Amino acid sequence: MSRVLIVGAGLTGSLCACLLRREMQNKVHIVVWDKARGTGGRMSTARPPDSSSQSADLGAQYITATAAYARSHHSFYSELLSSGVLKPFDLLIEGLKLKDGSRNYMTPLGMSSVVKHFLSESGADLFFERHVTGLYRRGASWEVQRKAGDSEEFDAVVLTMPVPQILQLQGDVGQSEILLSVQQKQQLAQVVYSSRFAVALFFAPDVVFTFPWAARYVADNPYICYIAADSRKRNAGLSLIGPSLVVHTSVPFGLEHLEKDKEEVQPIILQELYELLPDLPQPISIKCQKWRYSQVLTSVPDCPGQMTVLDRPLLVLGGDAFSHSNFDGCVESALSMLNVLKASL
Ligand SMILES: Cc1cc2nc3c(=O)[nH]c(=O)nc-3n(C[C@H](O)[C@H](O)[C@H](O)COP(=O)(O)OP(=O)(O)OC[C@H]3O[C@@H](n4cnc5c(N)ncnc54)[C@H](O)[C@@H]3O)c2cc1C
Repeated sequence: MSRVLIVGAGLTGSLCACLLRREMQNKVHIVVWDKARGTGGRMSTARPPDSSSQSADLGAQYITATAAYARSHHSFYSELLSSGVLKPFDLLIEGLKLKDGSRNYMTPLGMSSVVKHFLSESGADLFFERHVTGLYRRGASWEVQRKAGDSEEFDAVVLTMPVPQILQLQGDVGQSEILLSVQQKQQLAQVVYSSRFAVALFFAPDVVFTFPWAARYVADNPYICYIAADSRKRNAGLSLIGPSLVVHTSVPFGLEHLEKDKEEVQPIILQELYELLPDLPQPISIKCQKWRYSQVLTSVPDCPGQMTVLDRPLLVLGGDAFSHSNFDGCVESALSMLNVLKASL
């Protein structure tokens, strides 16, 4: 039985694990490592530090299926809809121009529930707080080093973290780039991500939002580009737990403040938010997140879905940088990596 390590419990890694299990049944032993303390990656659903009942989506907000992807990824959409993970999102999104034939979906339990669904289907051995720091070829297998200092060997490795984090790894792939061809190095060097801050505000149970929208794109504001009435968006039962609101900063703001601590940036974002929504009550709890690698602005050129660095032992790179930055981009990457894994294993 081949031991396959998937690094990253975001959507691409989780879906890849799930598809691999379905296609190869008991021929593979799948292990998933993530450096974070929970699932989701950039589809993260956060809780306030002092409560376990409220939650808010700090990264991805909702899923838009274009007519073409609704057809080609029909099985993924119908699986998530029939299991109740996805629901149609028909509330008002102010400032959004939806293309003809496209449809929005939301996740009643938060965006990380999509990732959790595929992970639980994968039957993979899942480990959090496993931070990969190095990758070394050892004959027919890969030695994968962890920040904790120890290492483990696998027959095949799949990396799904953002490209700059792959290139930071020690060993044969990252910093020394021994195994990457000149063309692969050039392709990876072209990837560009936007950066953003996201702030979630959690309110007391008696708070009712007075504005009519579930989400709003803010035009011509240098600080804030998007606000979501997160609990309304997810149709969460509010009477007991209180609503939540999420703010995303603009790309220029993210770039300008990228090297600052989130504690320093949070007051600037909140001041601007209360300029935009002067009637908003004070929250009881706040959570701020810096997305250094938010959405992919330029993906890996000429590389649909994945990049195979080595056939034996297999090392394959994937994630939204190898397709595009949304649900369907991750599905494309996972499908493309599945083909490589099936052929190799
Ligand atoms: C603010 C924001 C808004 C967005 N809005 C939308 C939206 O509305 N709709 C939509 O469809 N998409 C949206 N996206 C894009 C979407 O979230 C991403 O395309 C998708 O989540 C990427 O998934 P992934 O698995 O490829 O990567 P990731 O989710 O980044 O997963 C990679 C994982 O690797 C882990 N990792 C990194 N380095 C290491 C290491 N060295 N060792 C171990 N683990 C490691 C990380 O912790 C992470 O969990 C948004 C993204 C952001 C940030």
